[in-house]
Amino acid sequence: MDLDVEAPTHAKPPAAPVPTPSSFAEIVKLPDIAARFARIRRYFFLRESTYDMTSRCNVRCDGCYYYEGDKQNARDVVDPEAWRALFRAEKARGITFVVLAGAEPALVPALLEACYGEISLGAIASNGLVHIPDSVGYRIHISVWGDDATSERVRRAKRMLERQIEIYAGDPRAVFVYTFTRENIAESRGVVETLAKHGCKVTFNMFSATVGYRGSLRHTPAHLDETRRATLELLRDFPEQVLFSPYSAAAHTDALSLHDLYSCPYPRQNQGQFGLGRSFRQYRSDLTWVREASCCVPDTDCADCRHYAAGSAIVTARMNRHVGSPDQFRSWLDYVDTYLAVWVQGYGKSPNLCAVPVPPILARTGGTIP
Ligand code: SF4
Ligand code: SF4
Repeated sequence: MDLDVEAPTHAKPPAAPVPTPSSFAEIVKLPDIAARFARIRRYFFLRESTYDMTSRCNVRCDGCYYYEGDKQNARDVVDPEAWRALFRAEKARGITFVVLAGAEPALVPALLEACYGEISLGAIASNGLVHIPDSVGYRIHISVWGDDATSERVRRAKRMLERQIEIYAGDPRAVFVYTFTRENIAESRGVVETLAKHGCKVTFNMFSATVGYRGSLRHTPAHLDETRRATLELLRDFPEQVLFSPYSAAAHTDALSLHDLYSCPYPRQNQGQFGLGRSFRQYRSDLTWVREASCCVPDTDCADCRHYAAGSAIVTARMNRHVGSPDQFRSWLDYVDTYLAVWVQGYGKSPNLCAVPVPPILARTGGTIP
């Protein structure tokens, strides 16, 4: 695989200890690693589940994963007290972090407030066209699929970026999530420039096809390479605005999907009663959940899964596959640091430790590049 890309200039060059530490105990004693590991360990208590808050949306996007499968037919529960009771029960079974999605959660603000009253750490996935009350203190992820011309074509919404910025510029909860498709790579720079001009934070997502998707947004290996170069250049050029790391770029644009690289721990792929397979649930808007269908992006094709939300659990869960060398562990720490900065309100991104990440395939093969 090709990782010979221009390195972000703001990232520190990898330290070169001599002799190279070979055991994990030695690796975690290296000063830069020890400090970062101590910082992220404070968040090891996070236990996530996701919730479709409503089946309604105010736009209709090509390739939307929500309107695939039968979850869209759930009968919405609209009583805040019912949601409050669910979240109390979720807290009691150990859930500490919630991801509120849907269709469009901003359309049900009373339910968001009810949830926030019970579990205060979480994130909302929104299209950013309706303001979420300030009283809801979750991170808000605003989906961006290109410039306004592209959004009008693919999402059938006019002036989308302009309206999102009008609503969320200056809001400390907001992170704009630019989803790279095969068709919008070139326009990403203009969009990030616009966001940066307004002081907005941005991270990157890769379009991940739903099962049976036949449209034109699915990536090819060449488009993945081009996307990787684009994200690295944007990370280099907008270090204050872009929340990303070189290893994030490598992991999400590899020819292999996240599942093929790291083995997905969500119940859909891991029916075992351990780790995320035991604790994670994906609730539909009628408050039901199905273990066999549970993951953060249900109905997505696992063989094409490069979704940022999926990676936040899949890659972070695999610490033990990233301990083969100091730089492999630094890459993983950068990934987790990025994940926390994107998902946890109030967590600030640190400078990346590893400018040139180790190939993600090493996490699958245990150290050899096939
Ligand atoms: S805004 Fe989100 S939920 Fe609504 S159609 Fe688009 S992708 Fe689907
Ligand atoms: S779509 Fe992604 S997150 Fe969901 S089960 Fe498949 S690999 Fe895991």
